[in-house]
Amino acid sequence: MGSDDRMNEAADRLAAVQANIASAAQRAQRRADDVCLIAVSKKHDAAAIRPLIVAGQRHFGENRVQEAAAKWASLRAEYPDVMLHLIGQLQSNKAEEAVSLFDAIHSIDRSSLIQAVAKACASAGRQPRLFVQVNIGDEDQKGGCAVADLPALLAEAKAAGLTIDGLMAIPPADIEPAPYFALLDELAERNGLSLRSMGMSGDYETAVMLGATHVRVGTALFGTRGQGAA
Ligand SMILES: *Cc1c(COP(=O)(O)O)cnc(C)c1O
Repeated sequence: MGSDDRMNEAADRLAAVQANIASAAQRAQRRADDVCLIAVSKKHDAAAIRPLIVAGQRHFGENRVQEAAAKWASLRAEYPDVMLHLIGQLQSNKAEEAVSLFDAIHSIDRSSLIQAVAKACASAGRQPRLFVQVNIGDEDQKGGCAVADLPALLAEAKAAGLTIDGLMAIPPADIEPAPYFALLDELAERNGLSLRSMGMSGDYETAVMLGATHVRVGTALFGTRGQGAA
């Protein structure tokens, strides 16, 4: 594909997703401006990302620290107002790098990580916006803290000096996501948190109707990630 085609296609996809967010917000009597669209650029290279930036997109999500560091070094020098969100699992030994690289971390999910991130924030003198990831369907093998453990984890973050602004969840696959979005909204409300990171390409409009403040959209903006994509 030529570079003009790429630009046009990116602009069209972005406009379509933005329009869908706007109409979902309107149906729920919310303001579209209260929903942050995060373009999930994992497994896509700079050549695929740049057209979206040129089309006006500023928030991007990555699921691996190493991949993000390599890919975004030069793009960010070029576009300093881009905001990066870590949406994948974070190992404690990468906390320092994550804290310096990302503007938001959506995957705080356990005690050891809270301690590592608190330490990294103290030494960096900055704190990214933080979300606690909740294993909303109580699935084995899924990241996120158990619903029952959320209050204790939030208390621990507070004691460690971290400000948590919201919750993030990935509902179970292949089943109606709306009840899980509603549950995340309810958990956020109950714990006094203002942000909800929920909704992906297949269900972001539903998520917006149920209170998402951050939607994480990959495929609908970039096309498929190809074989082996996470
Ligand atoms: C990959 C990913 C997304 C985006 O998924 P799409 O279906 O491509 O929109 C959103 N959230 C997380 C945590 C992801 O890993």
